[in-house]
Amino acid sequence: MATIDLAELDAVRVYALPMRNRFRGITVRRGVLLSGPAGWGEFCPFEDYDDAQSVPWLHAALEACSESWPEPVRDSIPVNCTVPAVPADKAAAIVAASGCSTAKVKVAEPGQSAGEDVERVAAVRDALGPGGAIRVDANAAWDVDTAVRRIRELDKAADGLEYVEQPCPTIENLAAVRRRVDVRIAADESIRRAEDPLRVAVAGAADVAVIKATPLGGVRRALRVAEASGLPCVVSSAVETSVGLAAQLALAGALPELPFACGLGTMALLDGDVVADSLLPVQGRLPVLRRPPQPDPALVAAATPTADVQRQWLDRLRRVNALRTS
Ligand SMILES: [Mg+2]
Repeated sequence: MATIDLAELDAVRVYALPMRNRFRGITVRRGVLLSGPAGWGEFCPFEDYDDAQSVPWLHAALEACSESWPEPVRDSIPVNCTVPAVPADKAAAIVAASGCSTAKVKVAEPGQSAGEDVERVAAVRDALGPGGAIRVDANAAWDVDTAVRRIRELDKAADGLEYVEQPCPTIENLAAVRRRVDVRIAADESIRRAEDPLRVAVAGAADVAVIKATPLGGVRRALRVAEASGLPCVVSSAVETSVGLAAQLALAGALPELPFACGLGTMALLDGDVVADSLLPVQGRLPVLRRPPQPDPALVAAATPTADVQRQWLDRLRRVNALRTS
């Protein structure tokens, strides 16, 4: 079925949910829930994205509203816990409380030393035990030489890293680092558009692609992007509500191979949700749903922002839709 137009939707609801901690510079996550014949979708491009960048996000929302998702090949998805740039004892406590056997540890935080990263990673290894997997995320903070040095130190402290996510800013940097270290390199920030995973693969810049259904235009499009890249993929969230997160889980559920835990345990970042049965990990796993979950009217009402914010988002939705169909 072709995706439907806005005029054919049954309901459009703007939401705003506070974040428990500042993320990407924001303290409130906002978006629009759309209801169509196949269920609910979520349109939630980050607020600093322009209308053209937001078009794939609308494709993803309309796919959820109007088409069934591809058949899953697994019924649950292992997820990683996320360890922010906190002191070592706090890092160990986060891992122990998570129930996850994979931890993603934030490193290269501005103002912190290399030693703090090493201590944090070593504490995470102690908390996980030898069977757990540790990946670190530098969010593009290092130059090539720093990355090579720090990755070697952290690999040692971790007693083996699963991979390093985005050590440097550019695809060329990633390729240079990858030639010099034995640890796998994962591309995250380098993958935002549908053509990016293939560029990363062709450049020899990464061993793993971090992909998201929402900015890549939906589950089906993201599956095609993953296939074209030829790289093992990790599915990661864009901090959606459980409605949008269900599409990410549908992508993770339908990928032919899923060798690593996914970054989808992000509901805890939001203070609240729009569905009653929130997609929070149980023993480090999330279920693959066949359909988007149904928003709870009382929760949607509680998350409804001011008339001004609603108008801004409905205008944005109309503008992005006009671009999508032009
Ligand atoms: Mg990342």
